[in-house]
Amino acid sequence: SDGVPSQNKPRILLMGLRRSGKSSIQKVVFHKMSPNETLFLESTNKIVKEDVSNSSFVQFQIWDFPGQIDFFDPTFDSDMIFGGCGALVFVIDAQDDYMEALNRLHQTVTRAYKVNPSIRFEVFIHKVDGLSDDHKIETQRDIHQRANDDLLDAGMESISLSFYLTSIYDHSIFEAFSKVVQKLIPQLPTLEHLLNIFISNSGIEKAFLFDVVSKIYIATDSSPVDMQSYELCCDMIDVVIDVSCIYGIAEEGESSAFDNQSSSIIHLNNGTVLYLREVNRFLALVCILREDSFDRQGLIDYNFLCFRNAIQKVFEVKCQSVGIPRILMDP
Ligand code: GDP
Repeated sequence: SDGVPSQNKPRILLMGLRRSGKSSIQKVVFHKMSPNETLFLESTNKIVKEDVSNSSFVQFQIWDFPGQIDFFDPTFDSDMIFGGCGALVFVIDAQDDYMEALNRLHQTVTRAYKVNPSIRFEVFIHKVDGLSDDHKIETQRDIHQRANDDLLDAGMESISLSFYLTSIYDHSIFEAFSKVVQKLIPQLPTLEHLLNIFISNSGIEKAFLFDVVSKIYIATDSSPVDMQSYELCCDMIDVVIDVSCIYGIAEEGESSAFDNQSSSIIHLNNGTVLYLREVNRFLALVCILREDSFDRQGLIDYNFLCFRNAIQKVFEVKCQSVGIPRILMDP
C-alpha cells in the first residue's frame, strides 16, 4: 500500500518461551485489550501472519509459530526469518524460573546474529508487576549477567543485548516498545531536533510524538522522560479517542472520528496543561506545559503548524526508504 516491497521493511520479531506473555503484549499494545482479559487468551498452535494495524503509523506484522522453533530443523528458514529483521524482542517471564529461557535466548541470539549481525537484540524481562522493586533490580542484574556470561563463554561478546523491565499492567510495556521502535526509525534525530526547536520556542516543557493507535511514542524532545508524564499523555490519548468514538462523526470510509482537526486541552489542578494536536492520520503531538505558558496559545498554534509542515516533509522525502517495522512472533 505504501509502495515499499515487503522484503525492504524492517521487521520486529517477538520471541520467547510459551506462556512468557507474547500474545498478551501484542493484544494489549496493538489491540487495546485490557490486561485482565489476557488471562483468557488461548495458546496459539498455528502459524498466523497478521497485519496488526493499517491504521498505525508503525505497521506491524506478527508471525506466530507453533511451539518452539527447532533451529536444527532443515525446514526452519533462518535466513528468511532473521534476514530482513530489524529487531528481535525476546520475552522472559520474570515470575518463573528463567534458566530455560536464558538457554533459549542464547541459542536464538547466536543463531540470528550469524544470519544478520545488524539485528538489534532487545530482552523484555516481563511480568515484573509481581516483583518488589529490589527483586526487580536483582532479577535484571542476574539475567543481564548470565546472558552476557553465556555470550562471553561462546566468544560472542560482540553481540550486545538491551534489557527492559516490562509488564502489561502498567505503561512499562509501551515505554519499552517505544524505545525498540525508535531505534528503527532513521529520521529519529531529525524528529528530536524538530521537537526541541518547537518546545523551546513555545514555552512547552515536554512533548511526545505518538502513534495514536499503539500509544508508542516514536519521538520526544531531548529532556529526560519521566514515566508519570508519559502515562499522563497516554491517558489523554485514551480519553480523546474514547470521546471521539462516542461523540465524533467518522468520515465516510474512516474508522474513527480522529482526524487532522482533532485537538484537546486538559487543565490539571496543579497548574499544568496537557495539549494534544493531530499531526496526521496516525500521529499526534501531546505537550505538557505550565498554565501561564498556555496564555500564548496563538504562538503555540502557529509554531505547531510550522512543526507539522516540517514533519510532513521529513516523511514525504524519506518514507519510501524507511519501510515499516513489522513484528514477528514465536510462542
Ligand atoms: P505466550 O504464550 O507467550 O503468547 O503467552 P500469553 O500471552 O498467552 O501469556 C501467558 C500468561 O501470562 C497469561 O495468563 C497472561 O495473562 C500472563 N501475562 C502476560 N503478561 C503479563 C504481565 O505483564 N504480568 C502478569 N502478571 N501476567 C502476564
